Amino acid sequence: MSGDYYCAHCEYEFVVGDGSEQPPCPKCGQTESVRSVDTFGLVRTIWRQWLVAFVILFLAGVGFMLYQWTLGSPS
Ligand SMILES: [Zn+2]
Repeated sequence: MSGDYYCAHCEYEFVVGDGSEQPPCPKCGQTESVRSVDTFGLVRTIWRQWLVAFVILFLAGVGFMLYQWTLGSPS
């Protein structure tokens, strides 16, 4: 069974197509920290999307506050 894998040790994502059940990470060589993307990466992807949305909202808020502060500051 081929699929996408993710190494929790070095945060490296890779694809294995040779049918290995628990392939070693090609970057650090560990097998115990390798997770299948189907279970582990899905949660991680959702969290990453939430994080991106949060950062965008935060930056927009900071930009708006700076804009208001620039307009309202007495000089
Ligand atoms: Zn690794």
